[in-house]
Amino acid sequence: MIRIPSNCTGCSACISVCPKECIRHSTDAEGFMTPLIDPSECIDCNLCEKVCPALNQNTSNRTMEFLVGQNESYDITRQSSSGGIFYLIGKRVLDMGGVVYGAAFDYNAGVSVKHLRVTDINDLRRILGSKYVQSDINGIFRSVKKDLSEDRQVLFSGTPCQVAGLKRFLRKDYDTLLTVDVICHGVPSPEVFSRYVKEVEKRKSDECGKIFKITHFSFRDKLYGWNSFGVSYQIESSDGSGDSEKIFRGRYEDPYMKGFLYDLYLRESCHDCPVKDFSSGSDITLADAWGIETIMYSPSFDKGFSLAVPHSEAGKECLSAIGVKWQHADLNFMVTNNPAAFKSATPHKKRKTFFRLINDGKSISEAVGICLPEPTFFSRIMWSISKKLKRYAKK
Ligand SMILES: Cc1cc2nc3c(=O)[nH]c(=O)nc-3n(C[C@H](O)[C@H](O)[C@H](O)COP(=O)(O)OP(=O)(O)OC[C@H]3O[C@@H](n4cnc5c(N)ncnc54)[C@H](O)[C@@H]3O)c2cc1C
Ligand code: SF4
Ligand code: SF4
Ligand code: SF4
Repeated sequence: MIRIPSNCTGCSACISVCPKECIRHSTDAEGFMTPLIDPSECIDCNLCEKVCPALNQNTSNRTMEFLVGQNESYDITRQSSSGGIFYLIGKRVLDMGGVVYGAAFDYNAGVSVKHLRVTDINDLRRILGSKYVQSDINGIFRSVKKDLSEDRQVLFSGTPCQVAGLKRFLRKDYDTLLTVDVICHGVPSPEVFSRYVKEVEKRKSDECGKIFKITHFSFRDKLYGWNSFGVSYQIESSDGSGDSEKIFRGRYEDPYMKGFLYDLYLRESCHDCPVKDFSSGSDITLADAWGIETIMYSPSFDKGFSLAVPHSEAGKECLSAIGVKWQHADLNFMVTNNPAAFKSATPHKKRKTFFRLINDGKSISEAVGICLPEPTFFSRIMWSISKKLKRYAKK
């Protein structure tokens, strides 16, 4: 029977593989999914241990091919985080009669993020865009296996730890499976996000004296361009009056996004990630092509560019078949602009304080405000002087 590792990623491979179904989803004190074992049912088959990507780490699958490209449709890049490449990959699989799995918002009870099975091109849009919350993957690995056993073409997309978990759960290679992951900085707690959404809804409802609900959320709104992305949400009155407002906030103005960017509430495993350096076993890794202006010029920078890294023949074939004019980048470009590919994020020094504060009843916005106070005029000046000195020392 598995001993849950300290860097358990919550991938759910152990839960999905257990023949006695004696491991179930539970939630830890920080609001992250954690497996909970009922030892009375266990038959000591050890399958759970064998499939765990945190206990059985893969070696790096790094290739030296780094491609930069963009989807030509503005309608798609607008809804995607970077260059809208994921949409083209998903569309190709759907055109072949296949099935696509990816993370989508669910607005049924509050706002949450869940993996979704898509067979219709119109639903593919629901998967577009990065959601900075750990997605609920309950039951998805078994569904993927069922589709594969019925000889369907399957595209599974997710974080590297989810891809690694799926591949270990499947325990064999399928020619009909294509996996896409992202360069992953880390995922915040679903509980923190859910509480934040409730706070926003309550504030608006109190202000207007009627119930308001968020009906659309984006972590990567490109209103002011890809490099200046912010958070936006549509908030609507539930009384059918059509009273509705779209709110946009710069990424450091929105308390939740600010806490994410400062690594205040990432999952513990994201600080000791077992699948860095392209070791998930995915066919393709996608990322933001940050720093692209240093290697090329384009009038459409503001729409966003993706970095795509193929790791297998199937990945290469797919990227060459989706009609993108690729530019080549090199490893140095990757290392400089995407450190999250190789290195786990360092936890913010106030991480524990943050969870203590919210468990003591502080709101998410209050706790973020306490842990990440606005810099004073004096500290801004000191920061600017130290930056100038560092630049001078480098010269
Ligand atoms: C949590 C997270 C952290 C990231 N960190 C970085 C980073 O540090 N540096 C970097 O360059 N890029 C990072 N990315 C990737 C990047 O933001 C884009 O997703 C990627 O460039 C693909 O963009 P696209 O425009 O081609 O497609 P998009 O439409 O933006 O991509 C959608 C894809 O993201 C997946 N996805 C979205 N949210 C989640 C989620 N919560 N869990 C699992 N899968 C999800 C969907 O399943 C789909 O495959 C991160 C993405 C996520 C989800
Ligand atoms: S050892 Fe086998 S039966 Fe026991 S928890 Fe693990 S997978 Fe389930
Ligand atoms: S990393 Fe995945 S397989 Fe391992 S214990 Fe955690 S949920 Fe289970
Ligand atoms: S940083 Fe690593 S452990 Fe955290 S979500 Fe991403 S892949 Fe999983």
